[in-house]
Amino acid sequence: MRYYNIMNAGELIKARNEIDEEMVELSKKIYNLKSVKENYEYEIWSKCEHEWITDPNAPCDDLCKRSCKKCELSMQPRAPVFK
Ligand SMILES: [Zn+2]
Repeated sequence: MRYYNIMNAGELIKARNEIDEEMVELSKKIYNLKSVKENYEYEIWSKCEHEWITDPNAPCDDLCKRSCKKCELSMQPRAPVFK
């Protein structure tokens, strides 16, 4: 739908700026969610009774080639992210 054709320049600028603000808010949300996810993964890594399997095609070093078939985390130990 080409609704922008019926908007004047002022309306378009306002609409564009609102999108910028929304993108900033969403970026902040993604950043926060990444931290929460990393903390969850730290706890999962500590608590899961891992069953390690090897993926010879993983593009990384030896520890990274081995991952758990339950939690899908690599064998590489991880640190918590405190926010
Ligand atoms: Zn696991």
